[in-house]
Amino acid sequence: MSSFIKQSLFSLLDKTKGRNKLSCFNNQEKKKKLYLVLDLDHTLVHYIPVSKLSDKEKYLIEEADSRVDLWKFGKRNPEHLIKLRPFLHEFLKEANKLFTMYVYTMGSYGYAQYVLSFIDPDKRYFGHRVITREKSPPHKKTLDLISADQRRVVIVDDHSSVWPQHKPNLLKIANYTYFRYEMMNY
Ligand SMILES: [Mg+2]
Repeated sequence: MSSFIKQSLFSLLDKTKGRNKLSCFNNQEKKKKLYLVLDLDHTLVHYIPVSKLSDKEKYLIEEADSRVDLWKFGKRNPEHLIKLRPFLHEFLKEANKLFTMYVYTMGSYGYAQYVLSFIDPDKRYFGHRVITREKSPPHKKTLDLISADQRRVVIVDDHSSVWPQHKPNLLKIANYTYFRYEMMNY
């Protein structure tokens, strides 16, 4: 296992350690899986409209057809490119052993389904546990939409401001940026 994956999982476990020690959990509850809520943009992936690529990045449009970590989507203009965060598949595989995982994005349902068709085509990791902006309150995210005891939930997101009520659950991750152009993302 790469040191990156180890470090990420240790951080996650560290975040949940205090929760498992809570005296309010009995032994049976302690054996249950914990829950991991993952953001998409700038956390698991970075996406960009092709029209925003710099001249030096345009070669990536051709590369997208042959790389496993870079895809092109959208039949009409504007097309987009999506780049996976390095070691994403390894991370999901290991985290899936410890957590029941959700995706929670302020992107649209269609966008989330498209990204997940690449990173989780068999719905092995997330199943139908996907929350998008159509269901979420405007401009913020809430664990009220997750069917789990909130004391057992860890959130990984590059934006802390969208989780005003759940800071103790949040592990803020460094923003993953691959393309040069800056877009507003949550
Ligand atoms: Mg984000």
